Amino acid sequence: MDFTRLPHPAPAPGATRDQAIANPGFGTLFTDHMITVDYDEGKGWHSPTLGPRGPIALDPAASVLHYAQEIFEGMKAYKLQDGSMALFRPEANAARFNKSAARLAMPDFPEDLFVEAVKEVVLADKDWFPSVEGGALYIRPFMFATEAFLGVRPAKQYKFVVILSPAGNYFKSGAPAVSVWVSDYTRAAPGGTGEAKCGGNYAASLVPTGEAFAKGHDQVVFLDAAERKWIEELGGMNLFFVFDDGRMITPPLRGTILPGITRDSILTLAREQGLDVSEEMYSIDQWRADAESGKLVETMACGTAAVVTSVGKVASDGFEFTIGSGGPGQLTGTIREKLVGIQRGTVEDTHGWVMKID
Ligand SMILES: *Cc1c(COP(=O)(O)O)cnc(C)c1O
Repeated sequence: MDFTRLPHPAPAPGATRDQAIANPGFGTLFTDHMITVDYDEGKGWHSPTLGPRGPIALDPAASVLHYAQEIFEGMKAYKLQDGSMALFRPEANAARFNKSAARLAMPDFPEDLFVEAVKEVVLADKDWFPSVEGGALYIRPFMFATEAFLGVRPAKQYKFVVILSPAGNYFKSGAPAVSVWVSDYTRAAPGGTGEAKCGGNYAASLVPTGEAFAKGHDQVVFLDAAERKWIEELGGMNLFFVFDDGRMITPPLRGTILPGITRDSILTLAREQGLDVSEEMYSIDQWRADAESGKLVETMACGTAAVVTSVGKVASDGFEFTIGSGGPGQLTGTIREKLVGIQRGTVEDTHGWVMKID
């Protein structure tokens, strides 16, 4: 499919843009362009367009506004050492997008078109690449139901959109150890939508996350909904636990955990490094006991937005414990450097994870 390219009538002046990308923060600054692709039942995906970023007109009965048929992805464009731009495992995002689509009764989006759309808009807005250390262009592809219809059934019309947000470090102080709050709320029940990247999961996580913030923590930890015992993940990041005998575990994907691409990459890198890594259930009581006995030496949280970060402190109603010294962990640092190195082209990419796009 060829993209129609609509000229931008008034892109941001260079000086305004350069000032903005010097201090981008996270998620508040957007670039000039966006991609849109429309879907109609019977016709399929059509009219791929690269055009000026701007408001999208929607009928007030559009079903996304009522029944939340919406999914998204989160990925980044990186700048390699030689100044060229690259994506990291974009096919994995495209594949996961379709898994999410299937769970939300939405149509499949062609995976090559997904990658093509991302490339198109990144190249159109490459001058928006943040000028700060550790910066990247955060890419947000998403799809939602546009059909005006209030009956409850899958919509017959959808829109796929890609927008970009220049991003600096996710946590203000770079890569410190974060403090987490174990919530009584749950994120995902067996048979629910926990493994789909859909907006609805995030809507439901806002109250628990707000509670964690109000108590002075950076993130919330969710336990499983059935037994309220097993550690699942943070609001938007997966977890790994590192022990003093070199063992490392991460909760298995039982349908209630988002299958992170960072998680998958870390599993691969840790195994290559000769670590004894496995996917194993781990309970909140064991986490506390192991941290207190010193058997657990590190806990790392990982995701595209914040890459890899140590968890230093864990609290809930009735307990609080520290992991290691409470600061950044050693293995977390090593893995982070390796992954960031591959993404930035300073460490050899032996897995074909890096896709150069210019
Ligand atoms: C996106 C997301 C992650 C991390 O996935 P990555 O592919 O590593 O960015 C983890 N948990 C949740 C709930 C997410 O939405």
